[in-house]
Amino acid sequence: MKKLIDKHGRKITYLRLAVTDRCNLRCQYCMPAHGIDIVKRQELLTYKEMYRITRVLSELGVDKVRLTGGEPFVRKDFIHFLESMSFNKNLKEINITTNGALISKHIDQLEKMGIHSVNLSLDSLDRKKFFDITRRDVFPEVIETYKELLNSNLKLKLNVVIQSGVNTDEIIDFIELTKNDHVSVRFIEEMPFNGKGLREVKEVWNYTKILAKINSHYSSVESLISEKTSTSKNFKVPNYRGTFGIIPAFTRTICTDCNRIRITATGLFKNCLFDDGVFNLKDFIRKGASDDELKQVFIDTVQQKPVNGFVAEANRKNKNVSESMSTIGG
Ligand code: SAM
Ligand code: SF4
Repeated sequence: MKKLIDKHGRKITYLRLAVTDRCNLRCQYCMPAHGIDIVKRQELLTYKEMYRITRVLSELGVDKVRLTGGEPFVRKDFIHFLESMSFNKNLKEINITTNGALISKHIDQLEKMGIHSVNLSLDSLDRKKFFDITRRDVFPEVIETYKELLNSNLKLKLNVVIQSGVNTDEIIDFIELTKNDHVSVRFIEEMPFNGKGLREVKEVWNYTKILAKINSHYSSVESLISEKTSTSKNFKVPNYRGTFGIIPAFTRTICTDCNRIRITATGLFKNCLFDDGVFNLKDFIRKGASDDELKQVFIDTVQQKPVNGFVAEANRKNKNVSESMSTIGG
């Protein structure tokens, strides 16, 4: 079987697929209050197209898929799409990233389908602050989802974007959740763009600063051995049930072992979060490309994967990264 390998010898086995650019929340760091300019429905890949793209990629060695967005659960029939994906036996893992506001009632369905893990985004444990961040008052719904997930057999990770002057005072509270809860809390460096140009960030809270804050609170934290391709560096407070990690999303110290590609909701193929889309899959498919032609495009395009996010950014036609993560598929 032909595989996807880039010119730096990295094997590509992980697809992040944005199923929509729409969202029911308006997180400050992700989009402006009025939302992003969403594309027309016909511009979005159909489920059938997404299924086909994933199947072809899975025949080239991709065995892990993350479904993200926008908010995946706002797209009609997303549950049925998930179910059809679950029949692809080449996929070892199907994972979902969600804000959790709409899904507490679907958890048992996700379990039955064999979904591997859910990354739940939650940036504050305080209802008022949650509202200030997301501009929507759905904290109770998200907490309900958190509890349902804890009681399920799905692997649970909490995504917490660390925002200067907003939730840095909650870092320890989030780690304290891991004392009794079987959860992995991951602190994400904020990227200073939300679809409306560069955002001013008061004080940079990068990997080093987040870890320093944690180390100054606990007398010891254990460093954990993670998979080579993990996006987070992971730790544990001794004797706590759960773990925590830090994702250096913006400082980009994780590129060496990158095994990921992305496809946006409009079918743009991205070799890197920081490139501006290197191939238009939607047009190619809609012009009648065969599976073999599609395979060849994937093989050739992946070859060109830039060595790291800085090179990807420098190669952009549109120089500044300004897109919302909901367009990119965070
Ligand atoms: N709506 C879903 C959610 O929020 O989980 C999935 C899509 S969202 C774009 C995926 C992840 O990207 C979330 O964990 C979110 O917090 C993160 N994200 C969005 N904008 C970001 C930014 N500017 N910097 C860092 N992370 C960001
Ligand atoms: Fe929506 Fe997720 Fe972006 Fe928040 S981070 S606005 S929930 S897509």
